Amino acid sequence: MIHLFIGLLLSSLLGAAELTELSGCVSRDGVAINYYQKDSLKTSGKKILVFGQIHGDEPESGRLAQLWISRLENLSPSNTWRIVPLLNPDGTKLKTRMNANGVDLNRNFPTKDWSDIALKQWEGYHKKNPRRYPGPHGGSEIETRCVMKHIEEFKPDVVVSIHTPYGQLDFDGPRTKHIKMKALPWKRLGTFPGSLGHYLWDERKIPILTIELKPDSLDKYESEFDYLQDQISFLAD
Ligand SMILES: [Zn+2]
Repeated sequence: MIHLFIGLLLSSLLGAAELTELSGCVSRDGVAINYYQKDSLKTSGKKILVFGQIHGDEPESGRLAQLWISRLENLSPSNTWRIVPLLNPDGTKLKTRMNANGVDLNRNFPTKDWSDIALKQWEGYHKKNPRRYPGPHGGSEIETRCVMKHIEEFKPDVVVSIHTPYGQLDFDGPRTKHIKMKALPWKRLGTFPGSLGHYLWDERKIPILTIELKPDSLDKYESEFDYLQDQISFLAD
């Protein structure tokens, strides 16, 4: 039943775009976490990997991923794109930030400091806020391991992680020209133990752009998000 619900939800949102399975990429409750890919014909193109809805209660983040997929369907891109529009299907069904095990996937990546700091920081700084629970150990969650598998297999030049609701662009990567948008000002927020930004940039030197949408960003400034999509490859230069 859950499979059917998520399947229908995705197919109605994505129209004709075809999604592909990656072995091992299923949620705790067994829902496939599929991806869309469009290859560049140019050998000089960059490889861009996008994750939507890492947090289940941020539907606008999935909407932007789907808008970008629809746009890619109708053009011949200069870069190769892989988009995972719905990384946390169980949390989406439950309308929770966390996955079905109650884990914040964006604190669950097995960074080197995870064992020493992640749980302590959750107990202290986050006062055991269940919305920030990093899990029993780094990489404990199947959805986290799905992200890791995509990174290992696709070898992206730049990663994009889409969230809500803060209204900003947060880039972890080399010094670069800022992307200028009215909808989302450019800010650097830093990373946390177990966060995707820490795992990718601090430990692997893979640049990552975290897009924090506001609830009305897409409706108010939709054309700016075409521009944003077109600027992302420059972050990998
Ligand atoms: Zn989020």
